[in-house]
Amino acid sequence: MIDCSRTENYFAEKQRMTKKHKLNHGGYACKLNCADCPLSHLNNGSTMLCSDFEALYPEKAIESVQKWSNEHPQKTYLGEFLKNYPNAPLNRDGVPKMCLYVLGFMSMDDCRDGCIECWNQPIKE
Ligand SMILES: [Zn+2]
Repeated sequence: MIDCSRTENYFAEKQRMTKKHKLNHGGYACKLNCADCPLSHLNNGSTMLCSDFEALYPEKAIESVQKWSNEHPQKTYLGEFLKNYPNAPLNRDGVPKMCLYVLGFMSMDDCRDGCIECWNQPIKE
C-alpha cells in the first residue's frame, strides 16, 4: 500500500488517478472525468471544486486518494511475474533468483542490491 499521507505520494497517486496533462493551448486538464473522480464536486460530498476541496479539507482529499490508490494498485514486475509463475523459486527477499535484467526489461547497470527494487518497479503503461 502506498502511504498517501506523505506529500510526494499523495501528488504522485493523484496524478496517476487524474492523469492531468498539459493542453496544447496552455492550461491543464484531467483525463479522468469529474463524474468518475472522487475529488470532484460531484463526488467529494460538498459542492466545492476539487482544488477548493483539497485546500479546505486536506484530510478528506488524502482519504479519497488513498482509497483510490488501494483499489488501483500499480502493477509491478514482481506481481505480474508471480501471477504467471506462482511456483517460481524465490530468494530470501521474496523475489525471483534472477534479476529483471535477465528478462530484458532493464539494463544490467540499473540493478540494485538484492533486486527487490528491480522487481518492485511499476510497469509503465
Ligand atoms: Zn537486480
